[in-house]
Amino acid sequence: MARIVMKFGGTSMAGTERIRRVANIVRRQQHAADGTRHEIVVVVSAMAGETDRLVNFCREANPLYDPAEYDVVVASGEQVTSGLLALTLQAMGCPARSWLGWQLPIRTIEAHSRARVEAIEADALLRALDAGEIAVIPGFQGMSDQGRVTTLGRGGSDTSAVAVAAAIHADRCDIYTDVDGVYTTDPRIVARARKLKAVTYEEMLELASVGAKVLQTRSVGLAMKEGVRVQVLSSFIDDNATPADDLPGTLIISEGEMNQMVENGHMERQLVTGIAHDKNEAKIILTRVPDRPGSVANIFQPLSAASINVDMIIQNVGRDKGETDVTFTVPQTDLLRAQALLEDRRDVIGYNRIITDSHIAKISVVGVGMKSHAGVAATMFRALADRGINIQAITTSEIKVSVMIDEDETELAVRVLHSAYGLDEEETA
Ligand code: ADP
Ligand code: ASP
Ligand code: MG
Repeated sequence: MARIVMKFGGTSMAGTERIRRVANIVRRQQHAADGTRHEIVVVVSAMAGETDRLVNFCREANPLYDPAEYDVVVASGEQVTSGLLALTLQAMGCPARSWLGWQLPIRTIEAHSRARVEAIEADALLRALDAGEIAVIPGFQGMSDQGRVTTLGRGGSDTSAVAVAAAIHADRCDIYTDVDGVYTTDPRIVARARKLKAVTYEEMLELASVGAKVLQTRSVGLAMKEGVRVQVLSSFIDDNATPADDLPGTLIISEGEMNQMVENGHMERQLVTGIAHDKNEAKIILTRVPDRPGSVANIFQPLSAASINVDMIIQNVGRDKGETDVTFTVPQTDLLRAQALLEDRRDVIGYNRIITDSHIAKISVVGVGMKSHAGVAATMFRALADRGINIQAITTSEIKVSVMIDEDETELAVRVLHSAYGLDEEETA
């Protein structure tokens, strides 16, 4: 007998017909091949598009909305789908019940709209599993110490699933979505993207953090910390599909496990594992900032105090009169706030002009192979130059190179790089 957490995303839960298919997958997973019964916890997202709809209601009601009330509204989408899935399972003769975030409870810090799970009280859940009941948990939501509803940030149901898997020591956390695994890049952009049998936690963490939204970044960090075995796979399958226990999707595993797969010939080691893009950042340029100690601190301190994440930063070489331009990126959703904060402090910082641009994209190549091989960045710059794509900024980490380009060139850049690193799937005749 195994204990398995199954998470279903928004498109998998979009409407009663799709929920019936999900219930069918859950019911089949409960019955192991050897006749025993697996223990099953299901974590669900709201129906596709529902959370966006709820966010818009909040904006219409009050543009400066209180994050605590925002959480009350946006958490409701998952309450609906968890109840509907429990009802559908019951209709199929499977004992099932929903457990809302506050009922378990899933305890989080108080940071509304971007809370972090602190602890999950799993006793009631374990008793239900022991009694053969399927537990259905709405993803994305938790409860603060003040007893108020919290949410975990967009895409947070992945994190709910991994946190529950860690709390009940599940054998596996299967993330069911609308693609059948993690690909070398978004398969909706590059038709010849290749499905990966496995990705290391470290690589998946980088890929998610630079825009591969197939998993929420925080869920990968948590899985890595807690050693949760994660599989990404499709819910759009028929009754003849390979069972999840035979691992048809993509496994997220440790580097040690990956090395073993490579040694056993189950995986080929690539220099670059994947390519991701992110169109959600905006660029800010401050011109003619005094080139002296403390200037950069004066710019970034207020942004940090306002919890605005700064990503790429370039400080140009100082020019005449001891002045320099400073360029950096912030999330597009924080651009107006960042601009207002910087304008307020114009005298303290001492810049000349503030220039902003939301029409940019970040393209990143990721791979642990980079740790030991030179030339990945050079290949990237050459391939982009050959297609006339201009690079506006560059950042690197041990296993990643990112460039900022014009947003209109995003799809072209991803395709060009996918080919340049030899990632395209062989064409079948
Ligand atoms: P869910 O609603 O199930 O959580 P998401 O929309 O959050 O699904 O994530 C799945 C989507 O992630 C896919 O439809 C795909 O377009 C996108 N995606 C981006 N990068 C990748 C990648 N490297 N591999 C697979 N899917 C990717
Ligand atoms: N429904 C939430 C969202 O759309 C959480 C999730 O689906 O993971 O962000
Ligand atoms: Mg998602």
